[in-house]
Amino acid sequence: MRMTRVAATAAAAVLALTMAACGSDDDGGTGTGSGTGTGTGDTAATGVIAKAQSGTLKVGVKADQPGLGLQTGTAYEGFDIEMAKIIAKGLGMQESGIQYVTTVSANREPYIQQGTVDLVIATYTINDERKTKVNFAGPYFVAGQDLLVPTDSTITAPEQLDGKKVCSVTGSTPAKRIQENYKGAQLQLFDAYSKCITALAGGQVDAVTTDDIILAGYASQQQFAGKFKVVGKPFSEEPYGIGLAKDDKASCDKINEILKAAAADGSYKAAWDNTLGKSGTPAPELDTSKLTNCA
Ligand code: GLU
Repeated sequence: MRMTRVAATAAAAVLALTMAACGSDDDGGTGTGSGTGTGTGDTAATGVIAKAQSGTLKVGVKADQPGLGLQTGTAYEGFDIEMAKIIAKGLGMQESGIQYVTTVSANREPYIQQGTVDLVIATYTINDERKTKVNFAGPYFVAGQDLLVPTDSTITAPEQLDGKKVCSVTGSTPAKRIQENYKGAQLQLFDAYSKCITALAGGQVDAVTTDDIILAGYASQQQFAGKFKVVGKPFSEEPYGIGLAKDDKASCDKINEILKAAAADGSYKAAWDNTLGKSGTPAPELDTSKLTNCA
């Protein structure tokens, strides 16, 4: 079954190449359209798999999160970027075919739904609410919500945020959790975490809250050396997924297969070691038994 599909898609790719100039569209209709096929055909690839076959994939990533997704000039780097490269390679395309598109937390679902991006790899927590709009491969990492405070702060838990100014990002799970569970906190919202960090450095807020792994990246930046500390008591689970169109289960399953292979062949560990692992934290185990979210 799978052999058949691979053979068929390979043949289709060759056909597309050889017939590129004539514009014929008699091979099942996936062709060169928007790529957001309905997935009803059972031989021709659609969605992300088809996009990868065309050689280009638009991947939504963060641009201001050190170690995870950070843009310098036109280049992006970080663990999420390495995940994008692993997936592109697993889908049989060149790394150079990845087009990174900066996303912020609030536009991840809309960007997927509107086709602005094909995938989102952007510290993106898998949850049921988001699953009503998008599909998720993964998780490829599990973070936890935490607090970043000035080194001399006495805040050690979210219960102590009453009357305190705490900064987070619109459309994020940490912001929602503060709104729902810690109503006494004065929540300041920006579109990106780097703006919260600037506010914390300037003394305009008492704490920043998001995933521990994101906060650790800021705390370790040279310009903030000695200024901030991560409290270190995570109070949620944030399983990071790879978001894609809700109707693209075939590509979702394929990405999970790629993640499984990356765990087995060392490329997942290398992705960590070359980015977040540089601080000395050993690579986590990618628990392949949990790659069960594709719907
Ligand atoms: N993982 C959380 C989320 O997806 C927080 C990090 C972020 O906003 O990117 O909302």
